[in-house]
Parts: sequence; structure tokens; C-alpha cells
Amino acid sequence: MTGNPMRFRSTRGSQQRLGFSEALWRGLAEDGGLYVPETWPLFSVSDFDGAESLAEVGERLLAPFVEGDPLATQIGAIVREAFNFSAPLRQVRGTADDEILTALELSNGPTAAFKDFGARFLAACFQRIRKPDAAPVNILVATSGDTGGAVAAAFHGRSGMAVTVLFPKGLVSPTQQHQLTCWGDNVRAFAVRGTFDECQRLVKEAFGDAALRQHQQLSSANSINLGRLLPQAVYYAATSLAWYRKRDRPLSFIIPSGNLGNAVACLWARQLGLPIGHVVLAHNANRTVPDFLSQGEWLPRASIATLASAMDVGNPSNMERMRDLFPDHVRLCDVVSAISVEDSAIRHRIREDRARFGEVWCPHTAVAAEVWATMSAERRRAEAWCLVSTASPAKFPEVVEPLIEGRVSVPETLARLFDRPSVFEEIDASLEMLKVGLKSR
Ligand SMILES: *Cc1c(COP(=O)(O)O)cnc(C)c1O
Repeated sequence: MTGNPMRFRSTRGSQQRLGFSEALWRGLAEDGGLYVPETWPLFSVSDFDGAESLAEVGERLLAPFVEGDPLATQIGAIVREAFNFSAPLRQVRGTADDEILTALELSNGPTAAFKDFGARFLAACFQRIRKPDAAPVNILVATSGDTGGAVAAAFHGRSGMAVTVLFPKGLVSPTQQHQLTCWGDNVRAFAVRGTFDECQRLVKEAFGDAALRQHQQLSSANSINLGRLLPQAVYYAATSLAWYRKRDRPLSFIIPSGNLGNAVACLWARQLGLPIGHVVLAHNANRTVPDFLSQGEWLPRASIATLASAMDVGNPSNMERMRDLFPDHVRLCDVVSAISVEDSAIRHRIREDRARFGEVWCPHTAVAAEVWATMSAERRRAEAWCLVSTASPAKFPEVVEPLIEGRVSVPETLARLFDRPSVFEEIDASLEMLKVGLKSR
């Protein structure tokens, strides 16, 4: 698979072409588009012979993408460092013999959600891209819940790098707030008196502030960063390979989706030749994507709050990458379908699957479980289906526990976070206050 240096281009068509490190460092293309690979290497299953762990599969899968980049020789070390926890595939108990339903567990990382994969990979790359004698870098993240915790965990304790998390005061759950504020050391958390959109605006303003940037080197770790998306293709590759080796057939995925990063990663793995069948996007009541697939018109709208809050996205940015991969709507609909699920169905699914399968889903995973449960029996039998379990239910006890009328067991990684004290500073949604806060160290 060695060949030409890989370049990345923007989805919006500017002429700029960048290598891997530079695309990661910039985050967003200069024309406002998202970086995508200029060419797609094609793998066969046998290219992965002897590779089983996430790190082994990841090293081979990602090698062509870092070809010609300063990180090329370090990709093995990066994936071993980032993927130091497992992503097991298990059979869901109790489904009928002629139906295959599995769950891919992505919540074994430090903050018990799949965003740990991308955040840890990006941190491992940034650490190596940064010159040892360069000024410290401050990663600014606005978060509505899950992202900030994963990014904070991934960068916590790394020298030369700091993280500043901005979250809307009173608008994240108590459990989420704790995961944003329990770090200390090189991680600071600001509770902003405002909404998530205002937090995002503050981050944008900070990036645009020349005086601040003279004083601090700022960077971002947005979910649209290539360095968060590409590593997510690794667990789809490893899972579909393991399945194919055992069962000699592709695996189809039902993915709880919001901003579509996880789904695009799966489609990228498929594009690279991995044995992946259909991809179903399981959305909550934010139905921009299901409406687009059924009507062919892209009509982004304001997001609405649901029980699966990490998927409350009305204008998913990674749609740009999905349409870039499938410019033809008919072709897109051959491979991808999308369904919207209301809160009442999420509640019902959490209760019912606890009773019939003994499974306790997080509210996001429950959206995928509902999509499977409401498929026709024919469609259920036609493919080997895999629910992507994006988070541990222990992150959302406020939603899940009343429904199952019991406690959810807390994984040890989360329990350790709950033991740490919470520290944060409160600020108005103004750049001036953020600047004062940032300079106070
Ligand atoms: C972020 C998140 C999602 C949505 O993932 P996207 O990549 O934005 O589509 C789903 N579930 C959980 C638990 C999340 O944290």
C-alpha cells in the first residue's frame, strides 16, 4: 500500500492541497469546507491478514493517509497510544435465530463514549506535530456535553498543551458537567452564562482576536477535524473484518447520528473496501437528514432538544463530506438510509429492551435499537445488523434510571472521574471576560 504522498482537499473545491499534519492542525479548510482525502486507497480483506487488534488494523488502514507526512513513521505508536482500550462486538441476547443482532461497544474509553477514540488520536498526533520548543498550545472547545469531556481527558496531563472548555451554564446534565470540570492541571472549564451557540460564538471570536492570539497559540479540536474522524474508521474496519473472517458476510451498521462524524467514518471504511453492507442513520427528532434522504432537498434547521442530546443537531456539518462521497442522490440512497425517532419511542425502547433482552441502552444507542425494532422482519433477516453503542448508560442516569426503575452500573473509568472534585469558573458570554479568564494564568 505504499505509494504517493496523500493529500487532502476541501469539500468546497478550493485548489489547496495539504498533507495530513497540516490538515489536522488547521481543522477547517480556508474556503470553509472540510478536509477529505484526495484519493481513496482500496484494501482487500487479505491486506489485514494477521491484524486483529484495533491498533494493528489501524496501523495498516491509516498508513496510506500519512504517506509522505512527518507523522508517517509514527502512526504505529500513535494508534497504540490512542486505542489502548477495546471496542468489543457482542451478540444481543434473545433475538430470534434467523435474525442477527450485535452491538459494537464504543464506551470503554476514559469518558465512556465513542468520542474518546477521535479525541485520543488527535491528542496523540498534536503532541507529535508540535515542536518541543514551540509555545504552549491552548485547545479551545465549546461543548454541549460529550465532546468537551473526551477532549479534556485526551489532552489532560500532556506537556505543552492546555485545554479550555466552554459549556453553557445550567444546560448540561449534572453528570456531564462533572466530566467537563473534574480535570484540573492543564484543563480549565468555564461555565458560560449563555447557550451552546454563544459558547461557539465565543470560540470563534477568540480565534479572530489578534491580540489574544499574539499572547496565546490557539487551536481547536472540533468534531469536523480530520484527526477525529479518520481514526473512527478504524473500529468499523476492525469489527467488519472480524465478522467477515468468522461469518463470511458483511456487517451492516445502525448508527446513532447527530453531526454525522461517526457515520461518515463508517462510510469511509466502506469506501476503502472493508466488508460493510448498509449504513442506517438513526436520528432523534432532529430530522434534517431523514428528510433530505427521502425528499432530496437539503433544508437545515434549528436544533431541538431531545433525550439523546448529543445528537441534537439541525445542520449536521459532516453532511458535506457524505455528499462529497456520494454526489449522486440515488447512489447515496442505495447505501445509506435514515430514520427519525421521537423521545417517546426512546423511552419505550429503553424500558422494553431492558425487559426483553436485559440490555440497558444509553438514550443515543436506544435510537438505533428503536430503528432495528421497527424494521420489517424481512429487512431484519436480510442482513447481519450491528447497533453502534455510542455511550454508556451510566453517563445519563437522569434519563435512564427512572425508565428502568433501577440503578445503572457505573464502569470503573467513570467512577474514577466521579471521585475527582469539580472546579470551574463562571463567565458572561463575552469575549472580554473570556480573555480576562484566559490571561489569569
Ligand atoms: C456525539 C454523539 C453522537 C453523535 O455522533 P455524530 O458523530 O455527531 O453523529 C451519538 N451518541 C453519543 C453518545 C455522542 O456523544
